[in-house]
Amino acid sequence: MDKKAIYRELEKAIAFGMERNRFDTRWGTPLVAFAAADDPLFADLKEAVSGTHLLPGDLLPGARTVVAFFLPLAPAVAASNYSGFLASQAWAQAYLDANLLIGEIGWHLKAFLEDHGHAAALTQATHNFDPDRLISDWSHRHVAFIAGLGRFGVNRMLITERGCCGRLGSLVTSLPLDPDPRPEEEFCLFRRDGSCLRCVERCVGKALSPQDLDRHTCYAVCLKNEAVFQNLGKADVCGKCLVDVPCSGAKPG
Ligand code: SF4
Ligand code: SF4
Repeated sequence: MDKKAIYRELEKAIAFGMERNRFDTRWGTPLVAFAAADDPLFADLKEAVSGTHLLPGDLLPGARTVVAFFLPLAPAVAASNYSGFLASQAWAQAYLDANLLIGEIGWHLKAFLEDHGHAAALTQATHNFDPDRLISDWSHRHVAFIAGLGRFGVNRMLITERGCCGRLGSLVTSLPLDPDPRPEEEFCLFRRDGSCLRCVERCVGKALSPQDLDRHTCYAVCLKNEAVFQNLGKADVCGKCLVDVPCSGAKPG
């Protein structure tokens, strides 16, 4: 089995998930990338993210490859979230839809790999973080960075070739595949040449600065949205700093 087969299966999983759940949320063309499970950067996540961050081998003994994927949100969903302090209803719904869809994609890919004789393991799309530290033990963003899907922006999102406005998922498999190269240049304009900082300007909670994200201040804003949209589900989101910014829908030129 090769990478193209996994990409085709990802597309199929998205189509199945969209049809089964009848989501209103629309997505752009996905991206996928692959990391070697023994890439030394995974061990570095214990320092960069959390001392309890898992290694691929913790999820799956004998892991050889980590598969990371990105689902870009359709521009209309991003545009719905441009104005106001609160997230738009479409944005909140997209978050909930994505949690379901990413879970289903993961299970679909796992079953596909297992049907072809390879073991696979995954964690949930979100809400797998420590409630006090607000830090996850399997950061899909950092895993996707290691796989070469993109580079981090000041808004702490992974900026991919199709922007940062979307959702990431990942899984681990025993199938050996060649790792993808990581981009060497910065994608974020501030990190490239000191310009932009549009995401900092747009932050409705004053949680974001060029150097730092105050997670607790940010999450307090997300919880306000959760309370407003509680009829939809657990939509603890905001996302104002990743819409209407140069890195939303594409890598800045
Ligand atoms: S909005 Fe500008 S500064 Fe912020 S992450 Fe995107 S490119 Fe970087
Ligand atoms: S998600 Fe909202 S509160 Fe958090 S950094 Fe972005 S704009 Fe600010």
